[in-house]
Amino acid sequence: MAGIGMTSARTRDRLVQRLREQGITSAVVLDRIRNVPRHVFVDEALASRAYEDTALPIGYSQTISQPYIVARMTEALLEGGPLKKVLEVGTGCGYQTAVLAPLVGKIYSVERIEGLYKRAKARLKELDVGNVLLKHGDGIAGWKSQAPFDGIIVAAAPLAVPEALLKQLAKGGRLVVPVGAEGGQQLLRYVRRDQQIERQVLGSVSFVPLLSGLGR
Ligand code: SAH
Repeated sequence: MAGIGMTSARTRDRLVQRLREQGITSAVVLDRIRNVPRHVFVDEALASRAYEDTALPIGYSQTISQPYIVARMTEALLEGGPLKKVLEVGTGCGYQTAVLAPLVGKIYSVERIEGLYKRAKARLKELDVGNVLLKHGDGIAGWKSQAPFDGIIVAAAPLAVPEALLKQLAKGGRLVVPVGAEGGQQLLRYVRRDQQIERQVLGSVSFVPLLSGLGR
């Protein structure tokens, strides 16, 4: 990978430093942010902005998530013990998938837009990310045949948490999901305990909406 200009080690270090200042403490997560080449997930014209802490367009009216959000969600998902099986809803360009993959056993990732699903599949293959199974589908239904999951991460915001996702969460499992209408979303973390499900509010966020059905 080229180590010059706007995608250089120094540019990436600056991003990592910024995330640290914003409260990301997990060394493994910061390490992934440093090492995953975010510029290969965006259009070449945007590559020079890939290590800014900002969401960027990836086509189909969707965006690659902001690095801070990817780090925050990954950290929240990992907290509480190792994860063997993780469900990701909203593969998008596959950046979050690539960040998370070496930190868990296996990721099952669902994307509703066929073009993004195909592109993410090609990128992740190029980067040799092997422990990922991608599917073109509606993640609101989860992935029943692979359930239960130790971790579920949702990259788009529903108005209310889909029932299927809570159902497919294993005992001790964590679900990290943004919930609410545009302009008023909160990032939530659910943990399945013996008898009940615990809910924590992690903070205000801004995500694209979780949509039902398939897209092209
Ligand atoms: N973490 C991704 C974020 C992409 S944006 C990245 O870094 O690229 C959120 C994605 O969720 C979009 O690609 C959108 O198409 C997808 N999405 C929205 N609703 C969905 C649903 N019901 N099932 C699967 N994917 C969905």
